[in-house]
Amino acid sequence: MIACAEHFLPGNDAEPKPDDDVVSSLSKTLGVQAITTDDLGIASKDFGGLKFVKPLALVRPYTTDDVARVVRAAGRSPTLTVAARGNGHSINGQAMAEHGLVLDMRSMNELVQLVRINGAPYVDVSGGALWEDVLKRCVSEFGLAPRSWTDYLSLTVGGTLSYAGVSGQAFRYGPQTSNVTELEVVTGKGETIVCSKTQSPELFFAVLGDLGQFGIITRARIVLQEAPHTVRWIRVVYSEFEEFSSDAEWLVRREEGESCFDYVEGFVFVNSDDPSNGWPTLPLDPQQVFDPIHIPPSAGPVLYCLELALHYRHSDNPSRVDAVVDGLLGRLRFIKGLKFQVDMGYTEFLLRVKRDEEHAKINGVWDAPHPWLNLFVSKSNISEFDSEVFKKILKDGVHGPILVYPLLRNKWDSRQSVVVPESDIFYIVALLRFSPAPPKGPSPQLLVEQNRQILQLCLAKAFDFKLYFPHYHSRQDWINHFGNHQWSRFVERKTAFDPMAILAPGQKIFSRVPQPYSFTQ
Ligand code: FAD
Repeated sequence: MIACAEHFLPGNDAEPKPDDDVVSSLSKTLGVQAITTDDLGIASKDFGGLKFVKPLALVRPYTTDDVARVVRAAGRSPTLTVAARGNGHSINGQAMAEHGLVLDMRSMNELVQLVRINGAPYVDVSGGALWEDVLKRCVSEFGLAPRSWTDYLSLTVGGTLSYAGVSGQAFRYGPQTSNVTELEVVTGKGETIVCSKTQSPELFFAVLGDLGQFGIITRARIVLQEAPHTVRWIRVVYSEFEEFSSDAEWLVRREEGESCFDYVEGFVFVNSDDPSNGWPTLPLDPQQVFDPIHIPPSAGPVLYCLELALHYRHSDNPSRVDAVVDGLLGRLRFIKGLKFQVDMGYTEFLLRVKRDEEHAKINGVWDAPHPWLNLFVSKSNISEFDSEVFKKILKDGVHGPILVYPLLRNKWDSRQSVVVPESDIFYIVALLRFSPAPPKGPSPQLLVEQNRQILQLCLAKAFDFKLYFPHYHSRQDWINHFGNHQWSRFVERKTAFDPMAILAPGQKIFSRVPQPYSFTQ
């Protein structure tokens, strides 16, 4: 029941304010540990490195009760807001709270508990748990693993569930929000509610993909499956977008029971020897070489890569694995001669971006600003998006991965709060920029402007698209993002679960409502 509130000390001339009183009384109720000045900064910055916002205090809750007490205390003040901070890997300050309370969710007591219901395995984990820890514990202790992932796993369970959580398994299992069966949530009213499809279903569906607006996830129950031992990781290259996309769609549409890869992603890269944007980024192993002799003369400024993986177990016959891979690859129209593959452990595969993180830290691009742009673009517009954006605006690359791969809409539950395009198939497009900070690299403002130009183009051409990790400045933009029907539902949910707009102020969707609300103590 101990929590620690780190107070951002006001300057000498600052008079104590009512909110300061809330913090000091909160400190007493929660049982404050020493206030250190060392790590105050984590609450005022994020991975994006574009926003710096000073909160009133950073609070370290250890239990769900601590979280509920902080929300109730904020509700007693006319102005205080509360931002749950996962691992702060947002781009635009979404986990920040200007002059509000930031909850460091990673400080919550660790929970990784196996649950069996009618024989089926699930794991109960804290909202502040990192996915990489969930992976390691589930594989090493139970031989089991969640089914749906993100590419990078130093993200928290609550942080990705408040968006969607997408990677190369989502075509089969849906996003991470489709792989959770029960949540424990602290609402903006300070109530702690356990919810599922059958128990308080309104809250359950509302919270999944809610941008943190309706509740703080303190526990999630995640579907597990048997963990494979090994993964065959494959990259094949295309020069024509139509061939790349139709092969990718053929793979993700494979029916359950038909042989298919377990992971399907894709990306765009520059057709040149540029070390951070071009051919050298393709090989999976230092021994492999990208030989451009295979590229047809008709190829344009960019090339495309389908990234695939097949899971298998030690007991599987290697010739069966080869036969499945060869059978599937034999149906694809990639450039022969431009295929790369390695076999590696399952955990090592899922932690692959951790190795990129280590390199990026050494090169200084991990801590530089990251003006990223993430979109869902309908299948009907993706070819034109390729011609206008990949081949023109981004023809020199983004100094990092440009992901593009198809997802199936029927794997997304429309009762959840996340919004996606209308069409049966839509593509995730992610511009994961890793430019060095100025003066070595371009100014972040220039890259933000390039993102704006891409969005303007999508709007001007009336593409069916949605921002993933949306970030808007005006109410009208938010209404446009959700569409009238879903916006009404979003507002109703806000009124029901966080009527004073205490939660997730960094998303800048609703403003704090000052009128008092009757909180239970
Ligand atoms: P934070 O940034 O701390 O918080 C994000 C939002 O969630 C905030 O609004 C916050 O208030 C809210 N929140 C945090 N914890 C909780 C909680 N317990 N309950 C309720 N709300 C909460 N995303 C993908 O889908 N697929 C990927 O492959 C992928 N790869 C990535 C790779 C990198 C290197 C990075 C930096 C990000 C990637 N992301 C990916 C994006 C990532 O999913 C989001 O940025 C996510 O929000 C980060 O989680 P976090 O724990 O850092 O959340």
